[in-house]
Amino acid sequence: MKDCRAAVITVHNKPLEIQRISIPDLEPGALLVRIEASTLCGTDVHRWHGPLEGGDTLPIITGHEPCGYVEAINGERTDILGKPVKPGDRIVWSYVSCGSCYYCSVALQPCICPGRASWGHNRSDRYPYLLGSCAEYMYVPPPCLIIKVPEEVSSASAAASACAYRTVMHGFDRLGAIKSHETIVIQGSGPLGNFATAVARDHGARQVLVIGAPAARLEVTKRMGADAVLNMEEVADPKERRQWVRDHTDGRGADVVIQVANNLAVPEGLTLLRGGGRFVNIGAGGKAAIDVDRLPQEMIFHTIRSAEPRHWLQAINFLASRKNTFPFEEMITASYKLEQVNEALQAMASYQVVKAVIYFE
Ligand SMILES: [Zn+2]
Ligand SMILES: [Zn+2]
Repeated sequence: MKDCRAAVITVHNKPLEIQRISIPDLEPGALLVRIEASTLCGTDVHRWHGPLEGGDTLPIITGHEPCGYVEAINGERTDILGKPVKPGDRIVWSYVSCGSCYYCSVALQPCICPGRASWGHNRSDRYPYLLGSCAEYMYVPPPCLIIKVPEEVSSASAAASACAYRTVMHGFDRLGAIKSHETIVIQGSGPLGNFATAVARDHGARQVLVIGAPAARLEVTKRMGADAVLNMEEVADPKERRQWVRDHTDGRGADVVIQVANNLAVPEGLTLLRGGGRFVNIGAGGKAAIDVDRLPQEMIFHTIRSAEPRHWLQAINFLASRKNTFPFEEMITASYKLEQVNEALQAMASYQVVKAVIYFE
């Protein structure tokens, strides 16, 4: 096998091309993975419309949410738990931080390492070519940590753990313990919002309130454990939405607000928070101004970027161990073949689907 098919962005905003891309030689410690499922993310849509800030240079293989089977390994590798990895194992794998800069080694904040490597924006005409998930094979560079996927977790859900779900786990990690009297408001009812709903419910919140749209997504949100949902399309006035949260919290506002929509939601989110509350900002994109004078007193604001390798493991463990409590598979609402990648991206761009998955035979 010398090459494989991949969906390549060659021009922004134009249909992706299915191209044949070379299979690279494996450097020591690297793996080649045969992709079974690749879920699509809002970032893939932004990158296709692109270019993103910081500038991607084309051509790139789109996608950064892969799950697949180990096809080949150059040498011996173990997974994040120290178990040997063998051809045929179904895996996901982490991003890579440098390990030696100030953020990695002193501050212990590897997600903001300037030398971090991630996927879905790498040039497909430069070695090791296969660093995007909408391809039949992917190259796993040697420093990546490997997480085996247990049988209970579908490849599509595991793929979504490689971005959306592990970022939610990172957010809850930074948030810290949730007390049994606390109300959590979640802004957004996409894959991040629905997964965050399940985690908030699981971690013992008194109530989980979700503000999102459209109605079809909110139906999934309810089954993921929300106590109440508010449809933004029906309640368009932010003042009324604020009142809805107050009505559920004895007039105080939420103990915790988790923003998983877009930065545009932050100013409103801050009005939903009680004094002394905690805000977790996950949803990226959009620009918003904050009136510092009107911030809730003594509040804490966490910004979350990506995740550490252990959050990949936490997401996979959560999917496996809570399989009978939450209907995770309902979040993957549409499946496509590789040659339908444009249709899949279009469906994500128009919010017709919660999460789209591309399956490879
Ligand atoms: Zn993503
Ligand atoms: Zn570093």
